[in-house]
Amino acid sequence: MRYTIPDKIKQLVPYQPLEGDYQIRLDANESYISLSPIQRQKLQEQFVNLPFHRYPDPYAKQVCQSFAAFYQVNPELVTVGNGSDELIGLIFSAFCGDNDKVGVFAHDFSMYQIDCSIFGVPCEVIPKQPDLTIQMDHAISYINQHQISVVVFSNPCNPTSLGVKREEVIKLLNKTQALIVLDEAYMDFWDQSLLDKIEEFDRLIILKTCSKAIGLAGIRVGFAVANQSLTVALKAAKPPYNVNCISQEIAKTILSDKEYLMMAMQQITAHCKWLNRQLEALAKEYPILEVVYPSDTNFIFIKTPLAKDIWEQLLKRSIAIRYMGDYLRISTGNEQENQTLLTELKQILEQYHGEGVR
Ligand SMILES: *Cc1c(COP(=O)(O)O)cnc(C)c1O
Repeated sequence: MRYTIPDKIKQLVPYQPLEGDYQIRLDANESYISLSPIQRQKLQEQFVNLPFHRYPDPYAKQVCQSFAAFYQVNPELVTVGNGSDELIGLIFSAFCGDNDKVGVFAHDFSMYQIDCSIFGVPCEVIPKQPDLTIQMDHAISYINQHQISVVVFSNPCNPTSLGVKREEVIKLLNKTQALIVLDEAYMDFWDQSLLDKIEEFDRLIILKTCSKAIGLAGIRVGFAVANQSLTVALKAAKPPYNVNCISQEIAKTILSDKEYLMMAMQQITAHCKWLNRQLEALAKEYPILEVVYPSDTNFIFIKTPLAKDIWEQLLKRSIAIRYMGDYLRISTGNEQENQTLLTELKQILEQYHGEGVR
């Protein structure tokens, strides 16, 4: 029979990352901290002796050990992926059967809906409140009424930067029958993680990543933490050699560097809070920045009808942020980068102010 590419794939548009060189990159929620010369030296020495001719450890056991020690979870309950992207894909492809229906919130991480369409999993969008928060009782009724059996969401949320408290997520677990996939990519910047409860729930998978607070977006390492039976299934379903030996070496080493991790998490959080306050002050001066959301993450979400113009003008000034319809998403940079962003943004807003759109 003649093969044709399925429509669901033909209609997909390849992910288009921002092209070009920009002096300041605040568009992808990465860490602005790069590894120190000492960390680099240490890694370099380790690389020399890696057995490059052998397949890597399929379960990345040493990486699991370092991760588990830092986050104080049982290493047996950790599965390592080639970025959490791979694990998200795995959950949609392997864990969703013919009778399952996935529930995602809007707005939330766009990969969830993309994976649903790639893997042909029926998907329902659970509405958020107009202020972009989740009203958990409403969400629970919606999930139960629509017979949703898998719920995936990021907490705190990318892109809204808003978090849902632990008690609310526990309520969701207790009042629905669904598998809850809780993406805690940004939880290192907030204190409402459910990692310590992982063994109490048999329908909970928590996703973590090295790409944000840990500062290792380049090595593609992410984690799924779940109870014993979900973990066995995750390990069975994943590609056997999904995380290469170089990434394993880096992840293991950096996840064991507790001092570095604590410093990075504290520093990024402090810079983000500072930027959040400055942007709120700017919004008072220029109300065309309609809402500056209070951030529980390492980025700020802003609602403004000028989103596209501001984004384009910042690009011209070699500052990249993320433009999303009526919204802008700005990852925190270091002090200098944040300061430059604010100065340029103020100049742009002043221009519009002159034109009477204040
Ligand atoms: C950045 C991000 C991730 C991380 O994906 P990786 O594949 O681990 O880099 C996962 N979930 C959300 C919501 C994110 O914003």
